[in-house]
Amino acid sequence: MSKRVLVSGGAGFIGSHVTVELIEAGYDVVVADDFSNSDRTCYDGVRKITGREDIPLVEMDFCDLEATRKLFSDYAIDAVIHFAAFKAVGESVAEPVKYYSNNLTSFLNVIQAGRAAGCKNILFSSSATVYGEPDTVPVTEKTPRKPATSPYGNTKQMCEDILRDSVLAYKGLRGIALRYFNPIGAHPSALIGELPRGVPNNLVPFITQTAIGKRECLSIFGDDYPTPDGTCLRDYIDIVDLAKAHVYAVRRMLDGRMEEDYEIFNVGTGRPVSVLELVNAFEKVNNLKLNYKFAPRRPGDVTAIWADPTLANEKLGWKAERTVEQTLASAWAWEKHLAGK
Ligand code: UDP
Repeated sequence: MSKRVLVSGGAGFIGSHVTVELIEAGYDVVVADDFSNSDRTCYDGVRKITGREDIPLVEMDFCDLEATRKLFSDYAIDAVIHFAAFKAVGESVAEPVKYYSNNLTSFLNVIQAGRAAGCKNILFSSSATVYGEPDTVPVTEKTPRKPATSPYGNTKQMCEDILRDSVLAYKGLRGIALRYFNPIGAHPSALIGELPRGVPNNLVPFITQTAIGKRECLSIFGDDYPTPDGTCLRDYIDIVDLAKAHVYAVRRMLDGRMEEDYEIFNVGTGRPVSVLELVNAFEKVNNLKLNYKFAPRRPGDVTAIWADPTLANEKLGWKAERTVEQTLASAWAWEKHLAGK
């Protein structure tokens, strides 16, 4: 019998891509989402891509403990992947209580209700933000975490700790935290992708919206960083590659192959790319000119961070495969799909 995976926040950008990969790998999936930062677009896209009309969709808020308990009693869940969270760094600085309340409560409820229902496998979606401004790059999972620079980042650190402590205390519980670098791009079908609300904070949605004419000009934040071209360095990871890492991690848990009951993996390419390089690659692969200008540094940005993905390569048997050019072409195809072009 196939194993069933609950994907909280499964209608969102990462959750929808992970749902596709899980289904294609033969898992049953239950999608749960409160649609606070998504709509049905990606859920419908997932059904089209997989040809599966029958993917259960539960509209609920994981901050509601009773609803969370009901979900775990309505479906026998073998593993849960927890994405449901608020993710806007700037907003988290302005509204810390909203972020702590939502991101921590929902995760605590998942652990609590899951445990009561006998679900023993929890995968948490963490972030490279937990490393802060690292002293050395690339970062390994052993690179010390730095104090978080935003309430959002702090909730990622706190949820990692909650998972680690829960695994330590509750026998039989297993946890994996995946630390994502910069997920970009869209599914090659262009049926699912990122749907930013309002002005995008992230680089690639801002680039594609500028290219389509929704935004006038991209500002490149800072050209005086101590990097080869003066712009920041990041590890941009294709969203489908990133989604596949979840399948490998879930399989490792469900097959009982974990070496520790709590494990952490970096999910990145190991390849640093500057903002300017990314913009140039976008122009080249999509054969267009982007309107951009240099602007002052954005407060809170780190100069350079990229992953050492060796642990995930070796232990999960996973590796990022798509080139940044392929990924940027997929991001552009998705933006055009949204514009009906
Ligand atoms: N960035 C930029 N202009 C934008 C948005 C982002 O120059 O409109 C830069 C930002 O300074 C950083 C990189 O792009 O160096 C990636 O930013 P993003 O917000 O996508 O991810 P982060 O690394 O901050 O999580």
